[in-house]
Amino acid sequence: MTFDERIALMKLFDLHCDTITVLEEQGKQLFANDLQVSLERAADYDAFAQIFAVFIPDTLRGQAAVAYFDRVHAFYEKQMQKNSDLIFSYFDSKDTKMKAILSVEGGAAAAGTIEGLRHLSDCDVRLMTLTWNAQNEIASGCWAEPDTGLTAFGINALREMERLSMVADVSHLSKRGFWDVAEHAKKPFVASHSNCDLTENEYGRRRNLDDAQIRCLVERGGLMGINLCPDFLGDKGDASFDAVYRHISHALDTGAEHILAMGCDLDGCDPLPELAAVEKLRDIYEYLLSKNMNEALCERIFYGNADKFFGSLA
Ligand SMILES: [Zn+2]
Repeated sequence: MTFDERIALMKLFDLHCDTITVLEEQGKQLFANDLQVSLERAADYDAFAQIFAVFIPDTLRGQAAVAYFDRVHAFYEKQMQKNSDLIFSYFDSKDTKMKAILSVEGGAAAAGTIEGLRHLSDCDVRLMTLTWNAQNEIASGCWAEPDTGLTAFGINALREMERLSMVADVSHLSKRGFWDVAEHAKKPFVASHSNCDLTENEYGRRRNLDDAQIRCLVERGGLMGINLCPDFLGDKGDASFDAVYRHISHALDTGAEHILAMGCDLDGCDPLPELAAVEKLRDIYEYLLSKNMNEALCERIFYGNADKFFGSLA
């Protein structure tokens, strides 16, 4: 097989996008749209699995957060039905090229109750980012002051999520929150869209993972998804292919070979134009190969590690 043929056979499994939330807001369609992710453009991959997040703004708490989730979830279900010849739930056994998993970004969607968590699980949510940036009923987000980590409810919530096979996602969580999860979690947890602590800027410093956190995710057999958001990749606009390569290399140097994945945050941030679309992941893949990164390793980062993790939950 030639190099181009091998690139053409690339598979993509992405751990985080905000596409479904933005589509609902703007009244657009999942199949074809002018956002960063559409099924039409993702269909060129040999296999495509996407975790679609319902993003809960920090201004919403309690029933307002639940109602917001319900509205976007109904839209997601409608879009899945409309495209039922193309894409299925990852956890259905149908042999299809395109697969979807539903997640929630912001544990406020549970409204601080165990019943709320069960409602999310009934809606097929299989991954939940415990917080966004602020404090919520579960924990402190990465911008919350003071950082009080997991709440008493948060500890119960984590236990219930594990019982429901809903994976805890520590992206956006505070430092103390991360280590509280590490202390209380019995099952693997993930950072769906968090980079390495390689930036000077405060946004990156708060959102990225330090080496001890990466090693903890490795030990627990979790996942770490590389985010394309410029502030989390570098400083002063240094956020292109080489920055992605730097974060991937650093994570690999820290032992992340079997947990590293992509969590691009498309439609949730503004990556540089050369990275800002689902089809451009092929260019990143090609760039990594051009830097002599091992091809089997690249396959694991772009698909295999995440597929193995979620496959074990199916
Ligand atoms: Zn996010």
